[in-house]
Amino acid sequence: PARAAEVRALIHDVPDYPHPPVVFRDITPLLADGPALADVIEAFAAVVASHDGVDVVAGMEARGFLLGAPLATRLGVGFLPLRKAGKLPPPVERVDYELEYGSASIELRSGTLRPGARVLLVDDVLATGGTARAAAALVERCGGVVAGLAFLLELAGLGGRDRLAGRTVDTLLRAG
Ligand code: 5GP
Repeated sequence: PARAAEVRALIHDVPDYPHPPVVFRDITPLLADGPALADVIEAFAAVVASHDGVDVVAGMEARGFLLGAPLATRLGVGFLPLRKAGKLPPPVERVDYELEYGSASIELRSGTLRPGARVLLVDDVLATGGTARAAAALVERCGGVVAGLAFLLELAGLGGRDRLAGRTVDTLLRAG
């Protein structure tokens, strides 16, 4: 972002949420700030300009919706919500993936992704990379091409980049 320090200051670190010892990065102050939000969307658009074309933006539930949908509007392309299990009406395509404790699933409504479309995946935070890896697999399962993955904040040291090895990954900010 052009004003990276201001944007970073609007992402609040919340200790022990949702449980100790996690430090949760809360983007709600950033979302509430018009100029900072616009700055972030412009920074994502600049990332897209470095790609070989993006036909559609896909966002991971739920904060990926909040950044991905305005980016799609900015780019003049459509938006695909990648939702947690059971939120979309059938028919859906689904990918299951492992979490630290247990497992999760993400779903895409069948027929909404044009085969061969170049997809930019967007989320707020890259942590372990498990969600993003499943999202990329889901897009490919549905016949899409993953143009790249873009995140507002990368939590370095959790192995997210390694899980996405071989893919184009852009992060606007990094935290230790
Ligand atoms: P991962 O699958 O990379 O471990 O976790 C990333 C997913 O969990 C993203 O969808 C992201 O929104 C959410 N997430 C994990 N940690 C945080 C955090 O500290 N702050 C926020 N805002 N989201 C997080």
